[in-house]
Amino acid sequence: MMEFTPHSTPKNTGWIEVIAGCMFSGKTEELIRRLRRARIAKQNVVVFKPLIDNRYSNTEIVSHSEQSLPSITVETPSEILELSKNAQVIGIDEAQFFSNDLVDVVNKLADEGKRVVIAGLDLDYRGIPFEPMPQLLAVAEYITKTLAICVCCGNPADRTQRTIHSSERVIVGAADSYEARCRKCHYIPE
Ligand code: ZN
Repeated sequence: MMEFTPHSTPKNTGWIEVIAGCMFSGKTEELIRRLRRARIAKQNVVVFKPLIDNRYSNTEIVSHSEQSLPSITVETPSEILELSKNAQVIGIDEAQFFSNDLVDVVNKLADEGKRVVIAGLDLDYRGIPFEPMPQLLAVAEYITKTLAICVCCGNPADRTQRTIHSSERVIVGAADSYEARCRKCHYIPE
């Protein structure tokens, strides 16, 4: 099987790339790496993140390894459509916090000939697919699943273990309340 990694501006077509994985798997780092390369190539890049995610910075996307890139915080996917008119490349971080309307928006952008690069958590802390990520993975041309390392056994990890008690689907800005775990070591908290 040959792995395809897009390197260039779309030629008369757009496309969608999704980087999906658990926490601590390097999703945002990979998003930043791709967008930086587009910038170096003098492409017009715009980056968005949802309002819910205000950890570290309101005007940047920041990876756990402290790489960062300027970003625009938006509440709804329709704002992304509005603010992407002049962009060739559109980056979206923490896509799991957007509504399912994001699927239509990224399809429209790709249909207009733009490259859309999306990063997000594909599973919640229970191991249940986190909308709209399943739908985004389905409409994307290119998919990368990033794996972390299980803190318990050292195997490749694709799940996010919550280590404190809460029934909220998301605890924002609480990275120390989570661990990367493999299938064998992950459990659903009560
Ligand atoms: Zn494990």
